[in-house]
Amino acid sequence: MISVEEALEKILSNCSVLEPEDELILDALGRVMAEDVRSTIDIPPLDNSAMDGYAVQAQGTEGARPSSPIILRVIGEVAAGYIAKEEVGPGTAIRIMTGAPIPKGADAVVQFEDTDEEKRKTAKKPIKEIGIMRQAVKGQNIRLAGEDISSGSLVLQAGAVIRPQEIGVLASLGREVVSVIRRPVVAILATGDELVDIKESLPPGKIYNSNTYSIAAQVLRYGGVPKILGIARDNIEALQDKIKQARDADMLITSAGVSVGEYDVVKDVLAQLGEVTFWTVRMKPGKPLAFGVLKLGKRKVPHLGLPGNPVSSMIAFEQFARPAILKMLGRKDYTKPVIVAKSESRIVNNDNRRIFARVIVTKRDDRYFAKLVGPQGSGILTSMSLANGLMIVPENKPAIEAGEEVQVQMLDWNQDL
Ligand code: AMP
Ligand code: MG
Repeated sequence: MISVEEALEKILSNCSVLEPEDELILDALGRVMAEDVRSTIDIPPLDNSAMDGYAVQAQGTEGARPSSPIILRVIGEVAAGYIAKEEVGPGTAIRIMTGAPIPKGADAVVQFEDTDEEKRKTAKKPIKEIGIMRQAVKGQNIRLAGEDISSGSLVLQAGAVIRPQEIGVLASLGREVVSVIRRPVVAILATGDELVDIKESLPPGKIYNSNTYSIAAQVLRYGGVPKILGIARDNIEALQDKIKQARDADMLITSAGVSVGEYDVVKDVLAQLGEVTFWTVRMKPGKPLAFGVLKLGKRKVPHLGLPGNPVSSMIAFEQFARPAILKMLGRKDYTKPVIVAKSESRIVNNDNRRIFARVIVTKRDDRYFAKLVGPQGSGILTSMSLANGLMIVPENKPAIEAGEEVQVQMLDWNQDL
């Protein structure tokens, strides 16, 4: 048996970061930048007002007070998006709105609240004169050109994960497209004579193929593109045929057929197509796992064989397929959030494997508590649906007692659990 870490290392060493492609900026959300972005413009492009008020020469407002305002002649008005035609000189002011470029001659903006405009406005006529009630300081309420981004500066770096704020920054530079790492196409193949597609009715003895859908959803969730290959029956021809359809994919995930005592056809077919190692990983659920690199046509496609039991499949995906997808996407951090919680249940570990127990984590008085969701059988998929975390019982620990502190790998992460 190999450890979870050993299995992960072997898988990751056979997956590499994919090539870049150009994407519309909105389609780049969650992707990894494949270029350094430098600005060719200043943002803001011009000195502009941070307030609604009056653009003035600070020097001419010396000594202004509410009891003795300094009266200036209003020679114009400028809104955001326009350039004032007039020039501010001694004894004059221009009414200015937030974001409007500072008129020539002005070196400060006095906000409305520091003028007597309110009093004058009642006249319903355009304001001809304004009383400045507080002395202005040079540069006051002026946002300088290039204070956010200066032309030529490095704004975003290759390797950064694109969040909504990065998309906003790209838009502020006028970028429509950005170079990002391509999303991996993950082919998904379910195997088993007992499986029926969800579009069909259910004959006696059969079950619906749920793994394809939980796996495809996990692929989507972590940024891959699922390519559903359907169901292969447990015979050599069916399997060979289906596996070949993965030749354009960046990874093939098969479901089931990797446990001991399985029909040997799966192993035979995989062995024909490349080197496949069957591992037993020191974890529970998810012990049987297959991994290898298949030669499909001219391409080499990493193959991950997940166990058939629906819970094992999902948990093994989280531990192994998720990091592989993230690596191909160019991400550097593959960890899921792990918290420390107080266990509210007792769990026995009798065969030295790392247990990933389905728990519900709650927060009370700033502490986390983790409680088993109920039966932990690897066929009980609703246990995954009820859980928001996986309690980790270390390999060498015979039991976790109620009240003990444990680590929980969160399936969902919400600060306000
Ligand atoms: P196996 O790995 O083939 O021994 O399968 C283990 C268990 O998982 C069996 O109970 C299978 O019926 C079940 N199983 C296998 N494939 C799927 C699937 N695609 N969807 C749901 N259950 C499955
Ligand atoms: Mg089977």
